[in-house]
Amino acid sequence: MTTVLTNLLDLNPVQLREYCASLDEKPFRARQLQRWIHQSGVGDFEQMTDLAKSLRGKLSHCARVAAPAVIADHVSADGTRKWLLDVGEGNAIETVFIPEDDRGTLCVSTQAGCTVNCLFCSTGKQGFSRNLTTGEIIGQLWMAEFALRAMRAGEDAPARQISNVVLMGMGEPLLNFDASVGALMLMLDDNAYGLSRRRVTVSTSGVVPMIDRLAKTCPVALAVSLHAPNDALRDRLVPLNRKHPLASLMAACRRYLDAAPRDFVTFEYCMLDGVNDADSHAKELVDLVRYGPSPVSCKFNLIPFNAFGMPGLRRSPPERIQAFAGILMDAGIVTTVRKTRGDDIDAACGMLAGEVQDRTHIRRRLMQMPRC
Ligand code: SF4
Repeated sequence: MTTVLTNLLDLNPVQLREYCASLDEKPFRARQLQRWIHQSGVGDFEQMTDLAKSLRGKLSHCARVAAPAVIADHVSADGTRKWLLDVGEGNAIETVFIPEDDRGTLCVSTQAGCTVNCLFCSTGKQGFSRNLTTGEIIGQLWMAEFALRAMRAGEDAPARQISNVVLMGMGEPLLNFDASVGALMLMLDDNAYGLSRRRVTVSTSGVVPMIDRLAKTCPVALAVSLHAPNDALRDRLVPLNRKHPLASLMAACRRYLDAAPRDFVTFEYCMLDGVNDADSHAKELVDLVRYGPSPVSCKFNLIPFNAFGMPGLRRSPPERIQAFAGILMDAGIVTTVRKTRGDDIDAACGMLAGEVQDRTHIRRRLMQMPRC
């Protein structure tokens, strides 16, 4: 009979304590184990020298530490690094590291594919296979942090390579709530990555009930993929809007901020030439976030569209993006324009595709759709 080994990356801090208790071990053993795994990058129990020999023996019979295997590793001319990771059964996900002068941001995936199918997103066109586990989500941070440390060993580099994490890669994190929150708990835990909750961002296309649950469970920074200022347009660009229209989404953002009043919501807005980039759209956005029951404390992040072969969609010209940003800023809203990073290795926002064994048949249905 073969024993199924428990992957310790799958266990959040509470579950790891319970697991140690099941082995008749004290809670401090869980903290030690967690530090070895997540702070030192050690996956071999024999190297965990301050664990009792008897515990190391038990673990080697019933547990393992296994992150998704790296299939490919690309570095862009601008230093952006993208890994393609094997999550089994023909599925592969992508993880991207974006180095900047004052921070290193890791963009992690939460699903193999995505069911939301936003019009402008390459991932959505891949269809959907399955939710990732906590181990597959935190395993991306584990793999990247220690690969980057190894690469910079001997340099005068900060001990920690990844200072910020965004759940903004493939998939909708709030449609894989429990596994995403398990990974978030590890990101925030002082015996694991110890990131401040403002340095960890969940990006959602607007799953309203789960925004409320996140506020109660793990109120990290919230980003909302907005992309349109009214329901008619957003229904087309982000189909989930038909289920959770803008009024309810804005109400959820207000409730989220009630739980963390000094925070703000980042609204992501993909700039699509002739689709959502007119002055009138910018003015509608100002009305959307400034008025209603109360203003939504927010900033806008305008994202130049990264073309991936979707017919009929083009990036807004730079002067249009600047004019659009100007209207938001004149209304007193902090607005940034995202620098396009890693587009030579298809790592820019909206370009992550991986390889997905599509169970939703989105790709086949797209091929059958009449071209407009
Ligand atoms: S933008 Fe996000 S939610 Fe929309 S299809 Fe892409 S991965 Fe899914």
